[in-house]
Amino acid sequence: MLTSLAPFRLQPHFDKRIWGVRCLKPWYDFKVPGDSDPIGEVWLTGDMCVAETGPLAGQTLDGITRGNSQVVLGAAEGTQFPLLMKVLFPNEKLSVQVHPDDKMAQKYGDPRGKTECWYALESSPSGSVALGLKPEATVEGVRAAIANETLESLLEWLPVHAGDMFFVDAGTVHAIGPGCVLLETQQNCDLTYRMYDYGRGRELHLEKAFEAMRLKTDAGLKPAQVRKDGLTVLMDAQYFRVEKFDVKPGEPCVREAHHQGTVQILFVMAGAGEIRGDFGTVSLAKAQVVIVPAASPEFALHASEPVTIVRAMPQ
Ligand SMILES: [Zn+2]
Repeated sequence: MLTSLAPFRLQPHFDKRIWGVRCLKPWYDFKVPGDSDPIGEVWLTGDMCVAETGPLAGQTLDGITRGNSQVVLGAAEGTQFPLLMKVLFPNEKLSVQVHPDDKMAQKYGDPRGKTECWYALESSPSGSVALGLKPEATVEGVRAAIANETLESLLEWLPVHAGDMFFVDAGTVHAIGPGCVLLETQQNCDLTYRMYDYGRGRELHLEKAFEAMRLKTDAGLKPAQVRKDGLTVLMDAQYFRVEKFDVKPGEPCVREAHHQGTVQILFVMAGAGEIRGDFGTVSLAKAQVVIVPAASPEFALHASEPVTIVRAMPQ
């Protein structure tokens, strides 16, 4: 039985989607074979993601968490990793969809629903997302709009700028347009009910979508709260907290490295460096992800070039 576990890096899992892209640069140098579908989602903390460093290298995040839940999760409940972080690369519109809340997910035998948030890593001038229904929308109006293929016009579309953070609570009808790259943090749940797919022929899940859908939600653009000590709180919601901080060369970061008792996901948004502790080093490069177990030994973050970290924690 482990009593502590050093931070470890995870290998991303590249997931094919019809709306995805063939070039993931400058984030990932991943070649999509010519006869294969494009990549839409890069799963950073999926159950299947494999540890690349440390004593448990080669094991999946799910296996590591189930086998060492106290050490990895600390106070967080359960034995499954609670948050799923992904990078989304939409090259076409994502389907208009909705996710269930905890109560509905549990009714159908799943452990949790799906509230999510999106942090815009990049956006072109035309980048946009749809978050929720217009105030005048009604359930009957949504049904009619699906039937006559005008659902898009009932959605609140918002422009996307790099650095924007959007909250998408369960029950929010939403979609993502092309032209942005989003870092998504969500409850670890894979339940999506598709309401409209622009005629691409994929299955719709209308009955459950209408059960999950709420006319009014708390979704929207959320302003960041900049704190004096150089740490920006991007999102502070029921299921997760997402923060951003910088590490400068020559100024190792110890203070921000620890968050006693909670598992952390560190996403390297920019720069390069390494994690150092008595356990050795873990190198960090752009777009990589490190899991810091709740019972991690002391460590410090060192930058060889200025590093920006986005950190997510369950709460
Ligand atoms: Zn979604």
